[in-house]
Amino acid sequence: MQYIEPLAKLIENLRALPGIGSKTAARLAYHILDMEPSKAKALAKAIIDAKEKIGFCNTCFNLSDVNPCSICAAANRDHSTICVVEQPRDVAAMERMRDFKGVYHVLHGVLSPLDGIGPDNIRVKELLVRLQTTKVKELIMATNPNVEGEATAMYIAKLVKPAGIKVTRIAHGLPMGGDLEYADEITLAKALENRREI
Ligand SMILES: [Zn+2]
Repeated sequence: MQYIEPLAKLIENLRALPGIGSKTAARLAYHILDMEPSKAKALAKAIIDAKEKIGFCNTCFNLSDVNPCSICAAANRDHSTICVVEQPRDVAAMERMRDFKGVYHVLHGVLSPLDGIGPDNIRVKELLVRLQTTKVKELIMATNPNVEGEATAMYIAKLVKPAGIKVTRIAHGLPMGGDLEYADEITLAKALENRREI
């Protein structure tokens, strides 16, 4: 199907989003064209603002519009307990649970030799620097319960244990192969509560 050029471009850009196929992209594009000009502008501005204003916290590497982020800056959180997660969306899942009072470290990925992702491709070095400069009692490995998540947890545990830091792994209340992000709050709270030392 041939679209006029600006419409084709809009569809092409929407189609590049995850989970959006050609049909959905076209439907969204037509919907945007039908929107009030002010609403369409607000949508475009929200995208630009989010991209411009949100960066990484230099401490935990979570997404933030301030540095350090509000969690790293909070005086009422336990800065000696760091929960290590794969992605910013995992921090959001943990925070929804409201049980965790420590802080986070976002790896931005997991070790995956088959995909060529090694320790230098995720935020491991930054974690080690952080452990040298702050007093940390416990590192909770909350990477996803799949092969890569387990391997990454073990790799980091091996690296930091000689420094006398307790390393724990969240329990398998989470289904193997499941995703932290999609776990309900109760399952996640149980997984955290039943963590074991590795
Ligand atoms: Zn932070």
